[in-house]
Amino acid sequence: MTVMGRPDGRKRHHNKAIRSMSWRSQSMTGAGRRNWFRTCPDARLACSLRNLIVKKNDGTLADHWPGDGWLQNFRFCLALLWVPMKTLLTDVTVKLGRAGKRAFRAAIDNRIADFHMPAKMPGDLLLTFDDGPHPDYTPRILDLLDEFDARAVFFMIGARAERHPDLVRACHDRGHVIANHTYTHLDTCAGGRYSRAQVAEDIERCSAVLQGAAGQTTHHFRPPRGELNTKTWGAAKATGHRMMLWSVEGGEWGRRRHLSAAEISDFVTKAVRRRDILLLHDDNEKTLRITADLLSRLRKERFDLTSAVASLR
Ligand SMILES: [Zn+2]
Repeated sequence: MTVMGRPDGRKRHHNKAIRSMSWRSQSMTGAGRRNWFRTCPDARLACSLRNLIVKKNDGTLADHWPGDGWLQNFRFCLALLWVPMKTLLTDVTVKLGRAGKRAFRAAIDNRIADFHMPAKMPGDLLLTFDDGPHPDYTPRILDLLDEFDARAVFFMIGARAERHPDLVRACHDRGHVIANHTYTHLDTCAGGRYSRAQVAEDIERCSAVLQGAAGQTTHHFRPPRGELNTKTWGAAKATGHRMMLWSVEGGEWGRRRHLSAAEISDFVTKAVRRRDILLLHDDNEKTLRITADLLSRLRKERFDLTSAVASLR
């Protein structure tokens, strides 16, 4: 590779050679080029390769490429392998993380908390709704459940239940189970500012409201945001509740909050399997669509959607 120098000894030819070897658009300038460079790892790799191949300290091209010394050759090989190595490492880390989470859940499933339906529980699926009751959405969810002859567990927030005792009663009277989701949707994380005693107090306050409205004692507790730790477990035991989490979630307020109702519905209807515990939230519009789509699929597949809840009442 030979590049002629300019008579005045400046580096114009060299820069031109660099541009022609790089993969970026010639028309890009200024901020556009900088942003493109920042967001494209391949562009960074291309530029580092280009520097190794053509750049020498005096600004002329290398006579041999990748380079003259072992260090340059080593860096060249590293740069070449960087993208596949990084992809592989990320992939392995993600898979190990998922496997660890699955193993952890399997070890405590049905022992400390229910992620799936307990072995002796009849039925095919346990539908659960969190964060209600909501005056706009809970009644419509109840109508949908009636239409498809399905029953669910409602993990209610005590403060909301206190404002809408008629909805709590309606849920109970129409064959569903009322369960505890704390009075204030308390932040129950392990290192959080509330003690185990305060979590237990919040659970009891919620229980009192729900019992006052529906005349039913709560036996199941789901910690807000699914916080499973010694604090929530201890508080649940102290107040006579069993911990119930979930195996599939809609994620309307969580990881899938940016998706449309149709997209979440598509995910949920494909993800749900027999013996799953499904988490949805009866405080938003999207859940109506998700519930309707899911129930019509499950009806076609002849899922038993009543026995599980009946066994909890
Ligand atoms: Zn919640």
